Amino acid sequence: MSEKKSPVTMEKLVNLCKARGIIFPGSEIYGGMGNTWDYGPVGVEIKNNLKRAWWKRFVQESENSFGVDAAILMNSRVWEASGHTTSFSDPKMDCKECKSRHRADNLIENHSKGKVNPDLMTNDEMEAYIQEHHVCCPICGKFNWTNIRTFNLMFETSRGVTDESQNKIYLRPETAQGEFVNFLNVQRTTRAKVPFGIAQVGKAFRNEITPGNFIFRTIEFEQMEHQWFCKEGTDGQYYEEFKKKAYTFLTDLGFDPEHLRFKDHDKLAHYAKAACDIQYLFPMGWSELNGIHNRTDYDLSRHQEFSGKTMTYIDPVSGERYIPYVIEYSIGADRLMLAVLSEAYDEETLDDGEVRNILKLHPALAAYKAAVLPLQKNLSPKAEEICAKLKKKFSITFDSAGSIGKRYRRQDEIGTPLCITVDFETLENGTVTVRDRDTMQQIRLPIDELESYISKAIEF
Ligand code: ATP
Repeated sequence: MSEKKSPVTMEKLVNLCKARGIIFPGSEIYGGMGNTWDYGPVGVEIKNNLKRAWWKRFVQESENSFGVDAAILMNSRVWEASGHTTSFSDPKMDCKECKSRHRADNLIENHSKGKVNPDLMTNDEMEAYIQEHHVCCPICGKFNWTNIRTFNLMFETSRGVTDESQNKIYLRPETAQGEFVNFLNVQRTTRAKVPFGIAQVGKAFRNEITPGNFIFRTIEFEQMEHQWFCKEGTDGQYYEEFKKKAYTFLTDLGFDPEHLRFKDHDKLAHYAKAACDIQYLFPMGWSELNGIHNRTDYDLSRHQEFSGKTMTYIDPVSGERYIPYVIEYSIGADRLMLAVLSEAYDEETLDDGEVRNILKLHPALAAYKAAVLPLQKNLSPKAEEICAKLKKKFSITFDSAGSIGKRYRRQDEIGTPLCITVDFETLENGTVTVRDRDTMQQIRLPIDELESYISKAIEF
């Protein structure tokens, strides 16, 4: 597999995002709040477009898939049934010298340069490896560890109007359970027949031990999850189908297949029949972008057991009763955003030696579909008129400050696919120039044709 030739580094991305209103550090004026990030005016548009593209592909265009938007705060029994209260944890070790906290599995993976797989080890085995190989603290370089302790990643809060009546509740660590608990609600109200899917996009929270790499791993993030309910025996076929669908979604967004690869899980959860990730070649190396899991009938069976309510599906034709299997496809919206930005980032040296920074985003993802630019200030009224008309259909920006060349560069940097320039000819014959971000080619178009031209250019 080829290493990435693109000039992107994490530092360049973080700087670009901050400078151009894509992503800012969270609570910045108070010195920040570790591993939280705020999306700015450009970033929120790109992220919304990503979520829209995902929803279009996996709900709108999918046969028999339906959306839900479940509450973040759920009955605590949900997390007992799902196993999160007992086993949603990471093996944590503290450095007694510098007090930094680490995941034992990450220490081993980094020390062995990926040759040893800690997923296959018990806590005792991980401790033994760290001792034997004298794995030092990556922060201070010393070797003085606590034992491994497991650390539950769920954020706790409490609910109740008086101090005495407080009940412990959790911020959901994944959106999936909102889809499982609504399985029969959705089935009944849509009259869907198995196989069918339930999708959701929403916030999830994890008290990660080692967050970092910008928006790759944060403590608050958004997930886009799709659960496909099917009959046992058909699960293998749908697992393969979702692997394909998840991959095609990425290549259709413009990802280079050289930067994507499947990685089967070496160790399966006790209930899982199959599991794999799609990894992306991020600026810091190959890492998980999304997961596809065959979860068997575990989730619905557990909810049936813990809630006492049936989760059984009755086939309307055969009358057969069964608890469906689930194929889960799960991708983080923020992690996808990082991948999309990394993939789109480019630097081009022009003939005059100037370096052009471009975000080669799929036009459907770009924050602004076009920028309207008056060649000179006195053309602004006409340009504003065109801009106002287009804004009724698309997200459009307007820029009249600085030379036209500088304005083109600003739009290239945030990935605006088209620049519409209003010049003196516009006043004479009602035409404008339209410049393409990637080729920098310009064509002349009548104003009346702009709407259909943009619509075609941004299709996904
Ligand atoms: P990882 O091994 O990277 O922690 P995971 O295997 O725990 O991820 P899942 O629980 O399968 O992840 O979550 C599904 C998807 O949600 C991941 O593929 C990723 O895109 C996203 N995701 C998970 N944790 C985070 C996080 N802390 N920050 C941002 N995105 C996340």
